[in-house]
Amino acid sequence: MKSADWQADLQQLRQLRLFNNVAASSINLLLKEFRACDLETGDILLSPFDRNQYLYLLLNGELVVHLGSLDSQPVSTLKAGECAGEISFIDNERPSAYVVASQPCSVLRLHRESLFKLFQHSPEMMQNLLELLCERVRQGNRLILDSEQTANIDALTGAYNRRWLEQVFERESTRSAFNAKPLCMLMIDVDHFKNYNDQHGHLAGDYALCLVTHTLRAQLRPKDSLTRFGGEEFIILLPDIGLEEARHIGERLRLALHQVSAFHSPVGVLPGVTVSIGLAQMQPKDSLQGLIARADSALYQAKQQGRDCLCG
Ligand code: GH3
Ligand code: MG
Ligand code: MG
Repeated sequence: MKSADWQADLQQLRQLRLFNNVAASSINLLLKEFRACDLETGDILLSPFDRNQYLYLLLNGELVVHLGSLDSQPVSTLKAGECAGEISFIDNERPSAYVVASQPCSVLRLHRESLFKLFQHSPEMMQNLLELLCERVRQGNRLILDSEQTANIDALTGAYNRRWLEQVFERESTRSAFNAKPLCMLMIDVDHFKNYNDQHGHLAGDYALCLVTHTLRAQLRPKDSLTRFGGEEFIILLPDIGLEEARHIGERLRLALHQVSAFHSPVGVLPGVTVSIGLAQMQPKDSLQGLIARADSALYQAKQQGRDCLCG
Protein backbone atom coordinates (compact mmCIF):
# COMPACT_ATOMS: atom_id res chain seq x y z
CA MET A 1 0.00 0.00 0.00
CA LYS A 2 1.49 3.35 -0.94
CA SER A 3 0.47 6.91 -0.18
CA ALA A 4 -1.29 8.66 -3.00
CA ASP A 5 -1.92 12.23 -3.98
CA TRP A 6 -5.52 12.97 -3.34
CA GLN A 7 -7.13 16.30 -3.89
CA ALA A 8 -9.82 16.75 -1.25
CA ASP A 9 -13.07 16.52 -3.13
CA LEU A 10 -16.09 17.27 -1.00
CA GLN A 11 -18.49 16.05 -3.69
CA GLN A 12 -16.73 12.69 -3.86
CA LEU A 13 -16.67 12.39 -0.08
CA ARG A 14 -20.39 13.04 0.21
CA GLN A 15 -21.01 10.01 -1.98
CA LEU A 16 -19.38 7.76 0.60
CA ARG A 17 -21.97 6.02 2.73
CA LEU A 18 -20.36 7.13 5.94
CA PHE A 19 -21.01 10.74 4.98
CA ASN A 20 -24.59 10.35 3.89
CA ASN A 21 -26.51 13.47 5.11
CA VAL A 22 -23.45 14.67 7.01
CA ALA A 23 -23.01 18.48 6.99
CA ALA A 24 -20.16 19.80 4.84
CA SER A 25 -18.76 21.61 7.89
CA SER A 26 -18.30 18.27 9.70
CA ILE A 27 -16.62 16.68 6.70
CA ASN A 28 -14.36 19.70 6.36
CA LEU A 29 -13.16 19.13 9.91
CA LEU A 30 -11.98 15.71 8.85
CA LEU A 31 -10.30 16.67 5.62
CA LYS A 32 -6.91 17.34 7.13
CA GLU A 33 -6.93 13.98 8.89
CA PHE A 34 -7.33 11.78 5.85
CA ARG A 35 -4.52 9.99 4.17
CA ALA A 36 -5.10 8.62 0.69
CA CYS A 37 -3.50 5.31 -0.29
CA ASP A 38 -3.32 3.24 -3.45
CA LEU A 39 -3.47 -0.54 -3.45
CA GLU A 40 -2.29 -2.95 -6.13
CA THR A 41 -4.25 -6.11 -6.92
CA GLY A 42 -3.48 -8.63 -4.16
CA ASP A 43 -2.41 -6.05 -1.55
CA ILE A 44 -3.71 -6.97 1.90
CA LEU A 45 -5.46 -4.05 3.56
CA LEU A 46 -6.53 -5.85 6.75
CA SER A 47 -5.43 -9.12 8.26
CA PRO A 48 -6.29 -10.93 11.51
CA PHE A 49 -2.58 -10.76 12.35
CA ASP A 50 -2.38 -6.98 12.41
CA ARG A 51 -4.15 -4.74 14.85
CA ASN A 52 -6.14 -2.07 13.06
CA GLN A 53 -6.45 1.57 14.05
CA TYR A 54 -8.03 2.84 10.86
CA LEU A 55 -11.26 3.05 9.04
CA TYR A 56 -10.84 2.72 5.28
CA LEU A 57 -13.19 4.37 2.82
CA LEU A 58 -13.06 2.85 -0.62
CA LEU A 59 -12.95 5.57 -3.30
CA ASN A 60 -12.58 3.30 -6.30
CA GLY A 61 -11.74 -0.30 -7.17
CA GLU A 62 -12.90 -3.39 -5.34
CA LEU A 63 -11.94 -5.17 -2.13
CA VAL A 64 -12.79 -8.76 -1.20
CA VAL A 65 -13.27 -10.26 2.26
CA HIS A 66 -11.89 -13.70 3.15
CA LEU A 67 -12.64 -15.49 6.41
CA GLY A 68 -10.18 -17.96 7.90
CA SER A 69 -7.62 -18.04 5.13
CA LEU A 70 -6.65 -16.14 2.02
CA ASP A 71 -7.17 -19.34 0.03
CA SER A 72 -10.87 -19.54 0.96
CA GLN A 73 -13.57 -18.22 -1.33
CA PRO A 74 -14.31 -14.54 -0.61
CA VAL A 75 -17.46 -14.12 1.49
CA SER A 76 -18.18 -10.61 0.28
CA THR A 77 -17.05 -7.85 -2.04
CA LEU A 78 -16.75 -4.18 -1.14
CA LYS A 79 -17.38 -1.57 -3.82
CA ALA A 80 -16.61 2.14 -4.11
CA GLY A 81 -18.38 4.09 -1.37
CA GLU A 82 -18.17 1.28 1.21
CA CYS A 83 -16.04 1.04 4.34
CA ALA A 84 -13.56 -1.56 5.52
CA GLY A 85 -12.19 -2.19 8.97
CA GLU A 86 -15.09 -0.64 10.88
CA ILE A 87 -15.41 -3.46 13.41
CA SER A 88 -11.76 -3.67 14.44
CA PHE A 89 -11.57 0.09 14.23
CA ILE A 90 -14.33 0.41 16.81
CA ASP A 91 -13.43 -2.36 19.26
CA ASN A 92 -9.68 -1.92 18.75
CA GLU A 93 -9.28 -5.69 18.38
CA ARG A 94 -7.65 -7.54 15.53
CA PRO A 95 -9.69 -7.75 12.32
CA SER A 96 -11.73 -10.94 12.04
CA ALA A 97 -11.17 -11.25 8.29
CA TYR A 98 -8.69 -10.53 5.54
CA VAL A 99 -9.58 -7.63 3.28
CA VAL A 100 -7.66 -7.74 0.02
CA ALA A 101 -7.63 -5.61 -3.14
CA SER A 102 -9.07 -7.69 -5.98
CA GLN A 103 -8.16 -4.89 -8.40
CA PRO A 104 -6.22 -1.61 -8.12
CA CYS A 105 -7.97 0.56 -5.49
CA SER A 106 -7.78 3.93 -3.85
CA VAL A 107 -8.76 4.24 -0.21
CA LEU A 108 -8.92 7.01 2.33
CA ARG A 109 -7.51 6.11 5.70
CA LEU A 110 -8.78 7.72 8.85
CA HIS A 111 -7.38 7.21 12.33
CA ARG A 112 -9.89 6.12 14.97
CA GLU A 113 -9.21 9.05 17.27
CA SER A 114 -9.96 11.63 14.58
CA LEU A 115 -13.21 9.96 13.68
CA PHE A 116 -14.30 9.48 17.28
CA LYS A 117 -13.78 13.19 17.86
CA LEU A 118 -15.94 13.96 14.87
CA PHE A 119 -18.81 11.81 16.10
CA GLN A 120 -19.41 14.43 18.75
CA HIS A 121 -20.17 16.94 15.99
CA SER A 122 -22.10 14.68 13.71
CA PRO A 123 -24.76 12.27 14.97
CA GLU A 124 -25.54 11.57 11.28
CA MET A 125 -22.12 10.07 10.82
CA MET A 126 -22.59 7.94 13.92
CA GLN A 127 -25.92 6.73 12.53
CA ASN A 128 -24.30 5.88 9.18
CA LEU A 129 -21.62 3.89 10.93
CA LEU A 130 -24.25 2.04 12.97
CA GLU A 131 -26.12 1.18 9.79
CA LEU A 132 -22.93 -0.16 8.22
CA LEU A 133 -22.26 -2.25 11.30
CA CYS A 134 -25.81 -3.66 11.29
CA GLU A 135 -25.31 -4.65 7.69
CA ARG A 136 -22.13 -6.51 8.62
CA VAL A 137 -23.92 -8.31 11.48
CA ARG A 138 -26.75 -9.39 9.18
CA GLN A 139 -24.24 -10.51 6.57
CA GLY A 140 -22.48 -12.56 9.26
CA ASN A 141 -25.77 -14.13 10.36
CA ARG A 142 -26.59 -15.05 6.77
CA LEU A 143 -23.21 -16.74 6.46
CA ILE A 144 -23.79 -18.70 9.67
CA LEU A 145 -27.21 -19.77 8.43
CA ASP A 146 -25.84 -20.79 5.03
CA SER A 147 -23.00 -22.82 6.49
CA GLU A 148 -25.37 -24.43 9.03
CA GLN A 149 -27.67 -25.44 6.20
CA THR A 150 -24.85 -26.74 4.04
CA ALA A 151 -23.56 -28.75 6.98
CA ASN A 152 -26.99 -30.39 7.37
CA ILE A 153 -27.62 -31.20 3.75
CA ASP A 154 -26.42 -34.07 1.61
CA ALA A 155 -24.62 -32.61 -1.40
CA LEU A 156 -25.81 -35.21 -3.94
CA THR A 157 -29.53 -35.38 -3.23
CA GLY A 158 -30.30 -32.22 -1.28
CA ALA A 159 -31.95 -34.36 1.44
CA TYR A 160 -30.94 -33.77 5.06
CA ASN A 161 -27.99 -35.77 6.36
CA ARG A 162 -27.32 -37.83 9.47
CA ARG A 163 -26.19 -34.79 11.45
CA TRP A 164 -29.58 -33.20 10.88
CA LEU A 165 -31.38 -36.40 11.83
CA GLU A 166 -29.67 -36.35 15.23
CA GLN A 167 -30.79 -32.78 15.84
CA VAL A 168 -34.32 -33.29 14.61
CA PHE A 169 -34.72 -36.51 16.60
CA GLU A 170 -33.78 -34.68 19.80
CA ARG A 171 -36.43 -32.08 19.11
CA GLU A 172 -39.19 -34.37 17.85
CA SER A 173 -38.75 -37.10 20.47
CA THR A 174 -38.93 -34.51 23.26
CA ARG A 175 -41.98 -32.92 21.70
CA SER A 176 -43.64 -36.28 21.17
CA ALA A 177 -43.05 -37.32 24.82
CA PHE A 178 -44.25 -33.96 26.08
CA ASN A 179 -47.44 -33.93 23.99
CA ALA A 180 -48.06 -37.68 24.30
CA LYS A 181 -48.09 -37.93 20.49
CA PRO A 182 -46.66 -40.82 18.48
CA LEU A 183 -43.50 -40.59 16.37
CA CYS A 184 -42.69 -43.10 13.64
CA MET A 185 -39.61 -43.87 11.61
CA LEU A 186 -39.40 -45.27 8.10
CA MET A 187 -36.10 -46.76 7.01
CA ILE A 188 -35.91 -47.02 3.25
CA ASP A 189 -33.31 -48.92 1.23
CA VAL A 190 -33.04 -49.06 -2.56
CA ASP A 191 -33.36 -52.63 -3.85
CA HIS A 192 -30.51 -54.31 -5.70
CA PHE A 193 -28.76 -51.01 -6.05
CA LYS A 194 -25.37 -52.59 -6.54
CA ASN A 195 -26.75 -54.30 -9.68
CA TYR A 196 -28.24 -51.01 -10.83
CA ASN A 197 -24.80 -49.35 -10.64
CA ASP A 198 -23.17 -52.32 -12.32
CA GLN A 199 -25.65 -52.27 -15.20
CA HIS A 200 -26.08 -48.53 -15.76
CA GLY A 201 -22.98 -46.95 -14.23
CA HIS A 202 -22.35 -45.10 -10.99
CA LEU A 203 -23.50 -41.77 -12.43
CA ALA A 204 -26.84 -43.30 -13.39
CA GLY A 205 -27.00 -44.62 -9.81
CA ASP A 206 -26.47 -41.09 -8.52
CA TYR A 207 -29.39 -39.85 -10.61
CA ALA A 208 -31.54 -42.70 -9.34
CA LEU A 209 -30.79 -41.55 -5.76
CA CYS A 210 -31.92 -38.05 -6.74
CA LEU A 211 -35.10 -39.56 -8.21
CA VAL A 212 -35.75 -41.40 -4.94
CA THR A 213 -35.26 -38.20 -2.93
CA HIS A 214 -37.45 -36.16 -5.22
CA THR A 215 -40.25 -38.76 -5.29
CA LEU A 216 -40.25 -39.27 -1.52
CA ARG A 217 -40.08 -35.55 -0.76
CA ALA A 218 -43.08 -34.83 -2.99
CA GLN A 219 -45.23 -37.18 -0.89
CA LEU A 220 -44.32 -35.76 2.52
CA ARG A 221 -45.45 -32.92 4.76
CA PRO A 222 -42.93 -30.14 5.41
CA LYS A 223 -42.39 -31.39 8.98
CA ASP A 224 -41.50 -34.94 7.88
CA SER A 225 -37.72 -34.84 7.69
CA LEU A 226 -36.24 -36.86 4.87
CA THR A 227 -32.65 -37.83 5.58
CA ARG A 228 -30.10 -39.59 3.45
CA PHE A 229 -28.77 -41.86 6.15
CA GLY A 230 -25.90 -43.16 4.01
CA GLY A 231 -25.34 -44.77 0.60
CA GLU A 232 -28.75 -45.80 -0.74
CA GLU A 233 -30.52 -45.67 2.63
CA PHE A 234 -32.96 -43.00 3.70
CA ILE A 235 -34.73 -42.35 6.99
CA ILE A 236 -37.96 -40.43 7.42
CA LEU A 237 -39.25 -39.25 10.80
CA LEU A 238 -43.00 -38.80 10.89
CA PRO A 239 -44.05 -36.64 13.84
CA ASP A 240 -47.59 -37.09 15.28
CA ILE A 241 -48.19 -40.22 13.19
CA GLY A 242 -49.07 -43.64 14.66
CA LEU A 243 -48.17 -47.06 13.26
CA GLU A 244 -51.29 -47.57 11.17
CA GLU A 245 -51.08 -44.22 9.42
CA ALA A 246 -47.28 -44.54 9.01
CA ARG A 247 -47.87 -47.87 7.28
CA HIS A 248 -50.19 -46.14 4.79
CA ILE A 249 -47.66 -43.38 4.20
CA GLY A 250 -44.84 -45.91 3.72
CA GLU A 251 -46.96 -47.91 1.28
CA ARG A 252 -47.74 -44.75 -0.65
CA LEU A 253 -44.03 -43.91 -0.86
CA ARG A 254 -43.12 -47.43 -1.95
CA LEU A 255 -45.82 -47.41 -4.62
CA ALA A 256 -44.82 -43.97 -5.89
CA LEU A 257 -41.34 -45.32 -6.70
CA HIS A 258 -42.66 -48.67 -7.95
CA GLN A 259 -44.75 -46.78 -10.51
CA VAL A 260 -41.77 -44.93 -12.01
CA SER A 261 -40.72 -47.44 -14.65
CA ALA A 262 -38.33 -44.98 -16.32
CA PHE A 263 -37.15 -41.40 -15.83
CA HIS A 264 -35.19 -38.79 -17.76
CA SER A 265 -31.71 -37.93 -16.57
CA PRO A 266 -28.72 -36.05 -18.02
CA VAL A 267 -27.29 -39.44 -19.07
CA GLY A 268 -30.46 -40.45 -20.89
CA VAL A 269 -33.61 -42.35 -19.98
CA LEU A 270 -32.98 -44.68 -17.04
CA PRO A 271 -35.10 -47.35 -15.39
CA GLY A 272 -36.68 -46.56 -12.03
CA VAL A 273 -35.82 -48.33 -8.79
CA THR A 274 -37.88 -49.98 -6.07
CA VAL A 275 -37.39 -49.68 -2.33
CA SER A 276 -37.91 -51.82 0.75
CA ILE A 277 -39.14 -50.12 3.91
CA GLY A 278 -38.82 -50.91 7.60
CA LEU A 279 -41.22 -49.18 9.99
CA ALA A 280 -40.88 -48.63 13.75
CA GLN A 281 -42.70 -46.47 16.26
CA MET A 282 -40.81 -44.67 18.99
CA GLN A 283 -41.21 -46.21 22.44
CA PRO A 284 -40.89 -44.19 25.67
CA LYS A 285 -37.19 -43.52 26.38
CA ASP A 286 -36.16 -44.80 22.95
CA SER A 287 -32.79 -43.46 21.81
CA LEU A 288 -32.20 -42.65 18.16
CA GLN A 289 -29.98 -45.73 17.92
CA GLY A 290 -32.69 -47.91 19.51
CA LEU A 291 -35.35 -46.69 17.10
CA ILE A 292 -33.02 -47.08 14.10
CA ALA A 293 -32.16 -50.63 15.19
CA ARG A 294 -35.86 -51.61 15.22
CA ALA A 295 -36.58 -49.91 11.88
CA ASP A 296 -33.50 -51.66 10.47
CA SER A 297 -34.66 -55.10 11.60
CA ALA A 298 -38.09 -54.42 10.02
CA LEU A 299 -36.23 -53.44 6.84
CA TYR A 300 -34.29 -56.70 6.99
CA GLN A 301 -37.60 -58.59 7.07
CA ALA A 302 -38.84 -56.62 4.05
CA LYS A 303 -35.69 -57.65 2.16
CA GLN A 304 -36.23 -61.25 3.24
CA GLN A 305 -39.81 -61.13 1.99
CA GLY A 306 -38.63 -60.37 -1.52
CA ARG A 307 -38.07 -56.53 -1.49
CA ASP A 308 -40.36 -53.77 -2.86
CA CYS A 309 -42.49 -54.08 0.28
CA LEU A 310 -42.91 -52.65 3.79
CA CYS A 311 -42.59 -54.47 7.13
CA GLY A 312 -43.16 -53.31 10.67
P1 GH3 B 1 -30.32 -54.83 -1.32
O1 GH3 B 1 -31.54 -54.94 -2.16
O2 GH3 B 1 -30.13 -56.03 -0.45
O3 GH3 B 1 -30.29 -53.57 -0.55
O4 GH3 B 1 -29.09 -54.84 -2.33
P2 GH3 B 1 -28.15 -53.65 -2.69
O5 GH3 B 1 -27.37 -54.03 -3.89
O6 GH3 B 1 -28.93 -52.39 -2.78
O7 GH3 B 1 -27.27 -53.53 -1.39
P3 GH3 B 1 -25.75 -53.39 -1.16
O8 GH3 B 1 -25.60 -52.89 0.25
O9 GH3 B 1 -25.03 -54.68 -1.52
O10 GH3 B 1 -25.27 -52.30 -2.18
C1 GH3 B 1 -25.53 -50.96 -2.00
C2 GH3 B 1 -24.94 -50.24 -3.20
O11 GH3 B 1 -25.22 -48.84 -3.14
C3 GH3 B 1 -23.45 -50.37 -3.29
C4 GH3 B 1 -22.95 -48.97 -3.48
O12 GH3 B 1 -22.03 -48.89 -4.53
C5 GH3 B 1 -24.20 -48.22 -3.85
N1 GH3 B 1 -24.10 -46.83 -3.45
C6 GH3 B 1 -23.97 -46.32 -2.18
N2 GH3 B 1 -23.89 -44.98 -2.22
C7 GH3 B 1 -23.97 -44.61 -3.54
C8 GH3 B 1 -23.94 -43.36 -4.21
O13 GH3 B 1 -23.82 -42.28 -3.62
N3 GH3 B 1 -24.07 -43.39 -5.56
C9 GH3 B 1 -24.19 -44.55 -6.25
N4 GH3 B 1 -24.34 -44.49 -7.57
N5 GH3 B 1 -24.21 -45.75 -5.64
C10 GH3 B 1 -24.11 -45.79 -4.31
MG1 MG C 1 -28.24 -50.67 1.93
MG1 MG D 1 -29.94 -51.63 -1.08
